[in-house]
Amino acid sequence: MLRNVAILGSTGSIGTQALAVVEEHPEEFRVCGLAARSSWRALARQVRSHRPPVAALADPAAAAALSREIAGVGTEVLSGEEGVCEVAGRPGTDVVVQAMAGAAGLPASVAALERGGLLALANKESMVLAGSVLLGIAARTGARIVPVDSEHSGVFQVLQSSRREDLSRVVLTASGGPFRDVPAFLFDVLAARHAFPHPSWRMGERMTIDSATLMNKAFEVVEARWFFDLAPERIEVVVHPESVVHSMVEFHDGSVLAQLGWPDMRVPIRYALSFPRRFASEAPHFDPSRLGRLTFEAPDPERFPALSLGFRVAREGGTLGAVLTAANEEAVGLFLAGRIPFPKIARLVETVLSRHVSFKEPGLAEIRRADRWAREEIAACSA
Ligand code: MG
Repeated sequence: MLRNVAILGSTGSIGTQALAVVEEHPEEFRVCGLAARSSWRALARQVRSHRPPVAALADPAAAAALSREIAGVGTEVLSGEEGVCEVAGRPGTDVVVQAMAGAAGLPASVAALERGGLLALANKESMVLAGSVLLGIAARTGARIVPVDSEHSGVFQVLQSSRREDLSRVVLTASGGPFRDVPAFLFDVLAARHAFPHPSWRMGERMTIDSATLMNKAFEVVEARWFFDLAPERIEVVVHPESVVHSMVEFHDGSVLAQLGWPDMRVPIRYALSFPRRFASEAPHFDPSRLGRLTFEAPDPERFPALSLGFRVAREGGTLGAVLTAANEEAVGLFLAGRIPFPKIARLVETVLSRHVSFKEPGLAEIRRADRWAREEIAACSA
């Protein structure tokens, strides 16, 4: 039976790969909605080739341009955050791929879960911001969240064949980012251009900086805390530059199951889309003899202090997740604009986290407030 797939953030790195997976399996999937932030030309091309009933752009001016561009195609064009949420929440949708960038993705994740069905979640910020809220909605509506993040997809896949109660520890691997081998004394002179291209995975600009600071991994620690209901001391991060082992799950009996594969985001995307089945792919076979050796090392807390912030947020919860994502987005923006040195990103975020009075068991209103507060704090700190 055809699955109706809506892709949010369809013009970004994960979104275009999700669309490529859908194209590989025309007998399994049909695109029923597309949404992006502002890239109306790219979205127009996708609409012309997939003819979904609906498309949305968060940026109203871009939505107007898209309307003009695809007049006569027969796709309804929606505008603004409400438009994107409507695509996420449309009845008849079987899977929503949530691949929007940043904290801005939360409302659409909520809309998708309110609808029920399956949410293939690539927007990790949604979980970091509001993990408990999202799980609460899913429990109420019967929605299912399947992780697209490669590390979490690995753990999720391992747990399909093992009992959750036997799990003792989860190990998430990190590529180490573009500055893995840069000595500490050079960190002050690192500029955004030094971070591109990323060694193993291809991704957007802000995410590349998150990979360079290891903030991306900090987010993933929080994400794992919610996805697998894990106390932070049962989550570990190990640097693994080859990005072949995506994660490992250790069980009480000392047995460790790892999930491996070439670093290719289409694999976790395909799994999330086909779950609980697996669809065949044309991807090259995994050949361990071509790998030579795999290396693992502990992350360096001196050069990459952002990682510990993830553990802190996973431990303390409340509205700290909202503060972590919002403060980081603002701090990365300052770095990309050349206004602060690289090490200041994590320092600013840590300062704002320390100043925050966390709200226990927040709802969406408190989360939104904490997000706004954190952005204002960063602006005040850096003025
Ligand atoms: Mg990841």
